[in-house]
Order: sequence, then C-alpha cells, then structure tokens
Amino acid sequence: MTTAIDQRMKSFAVSLLESGGGLIEWPEHLKSGFAILPPQTAALLECPENTEITAESVERGLTINLASMFLQRAERLFPRDTSAMALKIDTLYLKKSAMDEPVARAFAFPNARVKVLGASADRVEYQFWHFAAAIESDEKWEDVVGVTINSRSHARLEMPDPLNNYDAHPTRLDQVPVDFAAATAQAAAVAGAKASGFIRRLEERMDRDMKRLKSYYHALLDDASDRSRRTVAEPDKTDARAKAVELELDRKTEELRERYTLRPSLRPVALVRLDAPALAVTLNAQRRDGEKQFNIYWNAMTKTLEPLACSACGEGIFSIHFAEGFVPLCGACAHK
Ligand SMILES: [Zn+2]
Repeated sequence: MTTAIDQRMKSFAVSLLESGGGLIEWPEHLKSGFAILPPQTAALLECPENTEITAESVERGLTINLASMFLQRAERLFPRDTSAMALKIDTLYLKKSAMDEPVARAFAFPNARVKVLGASADRVEYQFWHFAAAIESDEKWEDVVGVTINSRSHARLEMPDPLNNYDAHPTRLDQVPVDFAAATAQAAAVAGAKASGFIRRLEERMDRDMKRLKSYYHALLDDASDRSRRTVAEPDKTDARAKAVELELDRKTEELRERYTLRPSLRPVALVRLDAPALAVTLNAQRRDGEKQFNIYWNAMTKTLEPLACSACGEGIFSIHFAEGFVPLCGACAHK
C-alpha cells in the first residue's frame, strides 16, 4: 500500500539525492528503484554507492520510510552551520506594470489607509524546510512536514521545489541568521493541522475510556451505599469503602490522562536556502496614530503577491489589521 506519506518521502528523497549528484531511477508505480550515489553521500547515508532504493525495509540498500534511518542520516547532508544547500537564481522576470491595482485586489486593510508608493527589484532568501514531526501518546503519529518561508516577511508560502528548478545553481550565501524560530512555528501549525484527525480520534478514545471508568466506579460506589442501607450498624466502614473507591477513581483518571497526553516534537532534517529575485512593493499605511512604510513581495516564481504573516499566529494574511505600532495581525488575533 502506498500512502501519501510514502509518496512525500519518496519525492523528498529523490530530489535530495539528485541535488547531491546522485542518479536515481525509481519509476512512479514501483515500490523500489535503483540509485547510484557519489561516494561521500553514500558514506553519510551508510549505504552502498550502487544500491537498491525502496520504500520497504530491506537488509542492504537504502530504505526510504518513516521507520528507516533515512531521515536521521539525511540530516548529515544538511549541516546546519554551512551554506552547502544554498541555491541562487540570477534573474527572473519581474512585473513592470503599476502595482496599485494588483495590491488593491489582493489585500484589504480594514483599519488603515494604505497607498502604494512604488516597486523595485530586490532579492529575497526563501527557505525550504523539512521537519520530521511526531506526536507521542497512546499511539504515535509521524509525518514529514515541509514549510517554505520568505525570510524577510516570515510568511509561509506555497512554492515549487527549488531542487527541481533548472535556473537554480549552487552558491554560497552569507551566514545570515537562519530563521529557525519562524520556520519551527510555521511547521508546528502545519503539523497540527495534519495531525488533527489523529488528535481527534485520541480525544474521542480518551472520552470513551473516561466514561467507562467513571461508570464502573460509580457502580461500585452505588453498591457501597446500597450495602450501607442494609447494614446500618457499620456506617464508618461504608464511608471508608466509598472513600477508597473515590481515591482509586482519581488515581485511574490521572493514569488515563497521562496515557493520552500529547507529546509533540519537531526535528529539522533539511533546509534549502534559495536566493531569488523578487519585486518589493513599498506601501504606506496611515492611521490616526501615525504612518509607516512597509514592504510586501511579488513572488517571481509563482507570479503572485505574497501574503504577510500575522505577528501573533503566523498565518499568511491578505486582510491585514494593524495593531499599535503597525503590527500586522489576522482578523482572529486582532479581535482577541
Ligand atoms: Zn493571527
């Protein structure tokens, strides 16, 4: 059975290995294929240079699934403190017409007057992150979460994989602070949405187990009070029994909560930095308490205006509420 996760793992692995100089032959409909890897890549992945590549666990060869060591080893191909996986696109077509109308169509500013001042060619570093996401609880949930962010605006974007972009060539980028915090926050939101079905099922199971537990112990308590009516002579003993049942119920309830506690984790496994041309559109926002200039970006790869990021929840927003100091917020965060 091929799941969506297997598919994502496969395409991630293939593009990662190909970008490192590997030759991968893994037909769409087959469970396994063949890889020829550069010696250094093979060494880092602890597999032969000429190897079977497969979604199923095999003795020798390269296994690509969540249970395999692939993700952990893939991390070695992406040393965090180097610019080894940095790509650059030298030139791209940038929109030349006036931006007033596109901005007015894409954006809404409910509590400010906003004017387009102009647009200029700029460069933006886009960061393509892959995280291994997991939630440990009574069961385990795992997935690979990819998030792409504009390192200037911190907005999360949908963009084509730069490893498949023929205009992108390897480069060295300055050691600008890599935006780990922003990426992690965005990945947590994506992982939360992906895991929502799993979380709901667990919560339903916990509710069901909790109901069963309570009805069982309440039956015991009823039994105890029935007995007390029959044996009026020993009320103390009955009270003590009821107390013991209640304590036991508390203990079991606590155990159940503990068992269903969600322990999420996010581990970065890959980062590709892409330096690309973009059109910076400068806007001026005006409110009673002052005015401020800020930039939005027209993305030269998707040929669309990018959203801004809500400063509170990180969601991409086109309807922008300005809080004090012109901090951009989404509608939900603005009305909290
Ligand atoms: Zn928000």
